[in-house]
Formats: sequence, C-alpha cells, structure tokens
Amino acid sequence: MTQSGTGATTSLNPIDLSVFTGAVALPDAADRPRYEMPARGKPGIAAGVALPTTVEELRQIIRQAYAAGIRLLPQGANTGLVGASVPTTDGDTVVLSLDRLTGPVEINDGDATAVVAAGTRLSMLNDAARPFGLHLPVDLAPDPTIGGMIATNTGGSRVLHYGPMRAHVLGVEVVAADENATLFGGLADLRKDSRGVDIAHLVVGSGGTLGIVTRAVLALSPLPRRTETWWLSLSEPSQATPLFSALKAARPGTLTAFEFVSREALRCALTADGGPVNPFGDELPEGCVLAEWSSVDESSLDGLENDVADAFELGLLVDGVLVDAHSGWSLRHRVSDSVRTFGIVLGHDISTPRHALMAARAEGIEAIGAIVSEAIVCDFGHVGDGGLHLNVLFPHGTPAPTPASAAQIRGAVDTIVARYHGSYSAEHGLGPLNAERWLADTPLIEQRIVASIKAVVDPRSILGHPNHPYNRL
Ligand SMILES: Cc1cc2nc3c(=O)[nH]c(=O)nc-3n(C[C@H](O)[C@H](O)[C@H](O)COP(=O)(O)OP(=O)(O)OC[C@H]3O[C@@H](n4cnc5c(N)ncnc54)[C@H](O)[C@@H]3O)c2cc1C
Repeated sequence: MTQSGTGATTSLNPIDLSVFTGAVALPDAADRPRYEMPARGKPGIAAGVALPTTVEELRQIIRQAYAAGIRLLPQGANTGLVGASVPTTDGDTVVLSLDRLTGPVEINDGDATAVVAAGTRLSMLNDAARPFGLHLPVDLAPDPTIGGMIATNTGGSRVLHYGPMRAHVLGVEVVAADENATLFGGLADLRKDSRGVDIAHLVVGSGGTLGIVTRAVLALSPLPRRTETWWLSLSEPSQATPLFSALKAARPGTLTAFEFVSREALRCALTADGGPVNPFGDELPEGCVLAEWSSVDESSLDGLENDVADAFELGLLVDGVLVDAHSGWSLRHRVSDSVRTFGIVLGHDISTPRHALMAARAEGIEAIGAIVSEAIVCDFGHVGDGGLHLNVLFPHGTPAPTPASAAQIRGAVDTIVARYHGSYSAEHGLGPLNAERWLADTPLIEQRIVASIKAVVDPRSILGHPNHPYNRL
C-alpha cells in the first residue's frame, strides 16, 4: 500500500486522499483484487482503501470523509453476492475495509455470549468459543467477517434450527456517518430488553448503508456432542418437503440441516476438477438431500437409521448413506462454485413458505425452460428453511444469456415467488443486483421510513454502495 499524500502512485480517480490523515491509502496493484474483485461478477475501482485498526481511527476517517463528501464503502471479507461490497468502476469510492478492526474475542461462557470486533472472521470466533463448548452456529462455505454477517443477515445451512444472524445479535455498536461519527447502540448482552424499538438492530441487513458495525455481542449455542450426517436420495424432488416434515416430526429438535441438491447441480459438483466420490455410487438421483442431525444429548440420536427406514416405507426415499460430516459437507459446499466452472450462471436466491417451495421450484423450472431451451437449472439450497438457489447455467458452447433473456428469466422467477408470498433475497441481502426489485416492490411507506432513518445516520449519503436501493431513495 502507498500512504496517502506521498504522491508515489498515480491515482485512477478524482478523489483527494490527502483529506485523510491516516490509515487510508491507494492499493498497490497486487492488493487491488482483495478490495475490488467480488466473489461473483466484474471488478470495480477503489479510489483508496481505509484500514482502521481502532474504533477511534474509524471515526476519524468518517469525520474526514463527511467533511469532504467522500463516499465510503464498508467491506468485510468481500464474499457478498449482491454487488454491495465492491466499488463501482467510476473510482468514486473509498473502500472502508474492516479487515484490521479485530481484537481478542471475549467469551462469557456463563451467559454463552461473545463480544467481537467487526473484522473478526467467523472461524476466529468459533476457534475462541470451542474450548468453552460453544459456537456461533451460522454455517456457510466462506469465512466472512462478523460485521459483514450482521450487515447482510447471513443465513446459511442451519437457519432451520438456529435462525439467521439476526437471531444471534444481542447488542451491536454502530458508527453513524454524520459530522461527529456518532457511536450508537452498545454492548449490553441483555436477552430481555423491551425499551421500545431496538434502533441499533436496524443495522442488521442494512448492507453498509445505515451505519458501520464496529463490535457486537452475540448469543452462542452449545456445541453438539453427537452429529449424524446422511445423504438421502429422493424418490422425486417434490418429496423433499414431505421428507423434511417426516424426519423433523420423528425426532423433534435434532434435525439441524436439510440441504437439497438437484441432479444437475450434483453432477457439476462431482465432475468438476477434483470432484469427490458420489455417495450414491453410480446413481445420480433426480434430487437428493444432505441431512444433519445433532444434539448435546448423545442418546437422542440413537436408532436414527430407523427414521430413515421409515421414510423408505413412506416412499419418500430410494437410498440413504451415512457419511462422515467432513466429506458430506465438503461435497455440499462444492456445489455453488463448481456449477460456475461449466458456464455462465444466473443466480436466484429465493425463499417461500417451506410447504410451497418445491411447487414454486417446479413452476420456475418450467418457466425458465420456456424462455431458454439450452440453459440448465442447477438448483440447490437450504430447503429445510424454505430457501433455494434456483441457479440457471448457460453451459460453455451454448448461447450466453442476453440482457433481455436474463431479465425475462428474472421476471418469471420473481413473479412465481411473489405469488407464493416469497422473497427474491432469501439470505444474500440487498445491493445493486436486486435494487430495482426492492424499489419496485417495497411499499412507499417503508421506503419513506428507510429514507428518514438514512437522513439521520448518513445525512450526506456517503455510506455504502451508490446503487444500493437505500442510496437511491
Ligand atoms: C461460495 C459462497 C457461498 C455463500 N453461501 C452463503 C450462505 O449459505 N448463506 C448466506 O447468507 N450467504 C452466503 N454467501 C454470501 C456471503 O458469504 C455472506 O453475505 C457474508 O455474510 C458476507 O460477509 P463479508 O464479511 O464477506 O461481507 P462483505 O461481502 O465484505 O460485505 C457485505 C455487505 O456488508 C457490508 N458490510 C461489511 N462489513 C460491514 C460493517 N462492519 N458494517 C456495516 N456494513 C458492513 C458491505 O458494505 C456489504 O454491503 C456465500 C458467498 C459465497 C461466495
């Protein structure tokens, strides 16, 4: 990194970084991808990168950005999937990386809570909690920051049992992008507090536009003492939700993940470079499920194979394979990225009420097939909580999606999801990629409420991606 004001690097942007007195620099070429390249999509251009190591340093950067009217884009691990964590190509934004805003993780084992800084990675928190027999049970393939997880309300594979990130945030400390970089919220770890609306909680899911998360108090859960992981082959995909209901009812409180993978998505995961072994041998089921049961009471999982056998009797399953947790999850976590190695993917992060999900899926596949015949739906997702990644693959060597066909597919999926009272952003949050949909669908009164909050916490509108819907009100 080249420090601001040294003049040693040619700036690609009109922003004067000399207004910052510290911790803001132009990224060297080698560092650029870390801040400018999203997990999916095209890179942007950062006018500079701010890397505060303390809350006071962060507040000073905000005061200086506020005075100069410079846009700050909060960024954690940059694994977000809606385009909200990378700058535009206009070079009009300073990336505010929370990467160095870390510190010791404070575990209060009596209360089962942790106090963490925003830049702390999920793995760091769980490493600190493990010796106390605790964990933050929000599970996903990447290793995001706690600040990014709060700002997107991360879901993941175990929402059906533990809830999304929102359910774990007891207290949160936030900095506003106002003249004084005012701190609000706090770190009280109260499980009961009904002093009106929880204002600081508004930052959960706000995608870096309603304040910057600096620290949080999180509720942790006991680590399970016993876990069983099965790959289950469905008699047909529509049986996924009846199977979920049957298994859940058979052993209440122990089914902690239920992940659907379609045949085409499984094929990609198995045949991409270094693909793992197919748990079903030579068979490629039309749909299968990774089911995980876990409990602190080891005996509560005794005889689990009988539940699987009962599901056979009911005609819901054709095969079931007990696997070790590591191999089961590594196959599941490969699915998303492996599909992308075979062509261009249009992703749809949808949810509906759980009972309606597989019907919505079937309608979606039919509607997509009517628009583009060469595309293949490679879907998978957290069916146990009503979520599905209805991803459409345009394989290499076939016509790529045009803006018109992509919009038509998106429109068809959104229409079906809306009919089932579902969501077009089940767990990836809001950002430039779904801004139009939010602006079109959200009742005016709700848009006004957001705009009025924004006017208080970010009066010059310098915070977050310029194309985030909250910055377009
Ligand atoms: C392969 C893959 C699989 C994934 N699987 C899942 C999944 O199963 N479930 C799921 O929910 N997500 C999933 N994601 C998406 C992503 O990992 C999550 O959204 C994650 O929580 C983002 O955290 P981050 O630290 O990377 O944040 P970033 O990507 O850096 O930022 C995300 C948003 O948060 C804002 N932000 C970041 N830090 C702060 C802060 N301190 N204060 C205020 N705003 C901030 C940014 O401005 C941006 O709007 C997946 C992503 C990938 C690449």
